[in-house]
Amino acid sequence: METLACGHVAHPGGRRVCPHMLRPAEDEDVSYVRLLNGHNLDADLCCTDCDQAGDPELSVICEGCVALYDDEESGYFDGWRGDPGITDRPEPVDTTVTATPLPGELGTVVDFAPLPSPDGRTAWLVLGRGGRWLLRFDGSCHKICRVRIPTETSVRLRQRLHTSADGRFAAVVNDFGRFGRVYNLASGKATLDIDGGTYHTDQAPLSLIFFRYAGRTLVAHRSDWDRLDISDPETGQLLTTREATSERRLSGTFHGALHVSADGRWIADDSWVWAPAGIPRVWDLRLWAGGNAWESDDGPSRRALCQRDYFWNEPMCWIGDSLLAISGLGRDDEAMLPGVRIFDAETGLELNSFAGPGGALFSAGMRLYAAGADGLTIWDPFTGERTGTVPGFVPTHHHREAGVLAAIRDGHLLTWRY
Ligand SMILES: [Zn+2]
Ligand SMILES: [Zn+2]
Repeated sequence: METLACGHVAHPGGRRVCPHMLRPAEDEDVSYVRLLNGHNLDADLCCTDCDQAGDPELSVICEGCVALYDDEESGYFDGWRGDPGITDRPEPVDTTVTATPLPGELGTVVDFAPLPSPDGRTAWLVLGRGGRWLLRFDGSCHKICRVRIPTETSVRLRQRLHTSADGRFAAVVNDFGRFGRVYNLASGKATLDIDGGTYHTDQAPLSLIFFRYAGRTLVAHRSDWDRLDISDPETGQLLTTREATSERRLSGTFHGALHVSADGRWIADDSWVWAPAGIPRVWDLRLWAGGNAWESDDGPSRRALCQRDYFWNEPMCWIGDSLLAISGLGRDDEAMLPGVRIFDAETGLELNSFAGPGGALFSAGMRLYAAGADGLTIWDPFTGERTGTVPGFVPTHHHREAGVLAAIRDGHLLTWRY
């Protein structure tokens, strides 16, 4: 034991700081950077002034003092310098990507989504013909119904297709817009009109997701900027009737993309609030669907996982039943390192974080898949090690039942089986 630069008697080791960061409690507003040393996310801490002057004088402080910066209780984090460490632990990967030509009958494909594939041929629902038709595609093509969504204009507007896991329902929504519609795929009839309201709709996708609860397929969806509801996609019936009053208010947050865990227990919302800041939140879907219509607003299971300034509409995905991987290491959009943070929905605790994964995230079994610009990377989310790559393959969609990741490029459906 010795007296460290922070003034505490402790074991040396751990991280170093510049002289202006020695006593975090007294330097609450110091702006600083993290100097990555190539070993995972280990880094020395250095105030922005010393970083800009170059060659900072660094001395060792105790773990307790370092933790005040890690817990975001001190300082203003200004960015990363240097490179993080990525550890490879190669496992055999079959990198064969299959390219299937898309028939002309599909026309311009706007989006696609998985359908149950009982005969072993991987089936997709395709929002084709420029977004005007839903068609089933499993090698051959089958027209299902016409799509009619109210016209709206927004620079970021993007049509998006969702399907239910049982293949009975689909929803076409205007992401970064207001309207959408749920269809019964057996009858081709619209069963529910989605109206996400008009307030800042261009800042996030139109929240919608199908899920299973007590043997039924239900749909969660936005019905105003700060209101989520659950409806029955068969009848269109609203199941979360509630009236906001001056005593009891709606969530007060802008709702974004929704994600449901594999076992249907948890739902995640890529929400944002004024500042503006992205705040990914989770709550218990069974409590919400099971009777507490306010669970998405102020329910006891609802919790915020982290806060990032100017940063939302970012990839996230569930791993197993209760872990949520969230893309991006840092506290705001200008100081973000590619990587993921892994949270436990049950406790809200961050269990792990590691650099490397970038782009859309998918998970199956014990692996996390990241669709980076150069191709797919495969990760062990429990250790943060990279276990494989599929160069050049950048999937956008996941067919869970078929065990396939997929993308459409140059008139072909590209699939890779994990
Ligand atoms: Zn300094
Ligand atoms: Zn100390």
